[in-house]
Amino acid sequence: MILHQLHAGEAKVENQYGRIVPWDGNPPALRAMETVFELRPYFEWRGLGFISQSALSIKPAFAAYDAEAIFEIPGVRVTDPRGAQCGEVLKGVLKPPQCKLFGTECNPEHPIGALMVSSEGACAAYYRYALHAEAVEA
Ligand code: SF4
Repeated sequence: MILHQLHAGEAKVENQYGRIVPWDGNPPALRAMETVFELRPYFEWRGLGFISQSALSIKPAFAAYDAEAIFEIPGVRVTDPRGAQCGEVLKGVLKPPQCKLFGTECNPEHPIGALMVSSEGACAAYYRYALHAEAVEA
């Protein structure tokens, strides 16, 4: 689909899984989610900060299955290591190579931020393919 768009000079969002999930979503799954979950007023995302109405929580009727209610988990805050700019990369403010730690202290063998951990992470992909592309072009 991406190659067709590229060939046609287009850039648009398409649903590759239209056979299973129509644009309106999966009605039984949406009903189940509506039964079990409710919108949180706000949520703090790692690297992104607080975003209103961006996450779900389990409704009180299902509290018996809610780890947050059962274990009384205190507010867990995971801050990025010093110097890491994962939040800026996540927000699209910086490209991975613009992070001060990219390719030096932070690399796939010794990842510092989450974006360098898995091969699909933006930084890991940049490290693997963008650097490789530069080497091929040189
Ligand atoms: S994963 Fe590493 S290179 Fe990427 S933004 Fe975070 S600290 Fe920087």
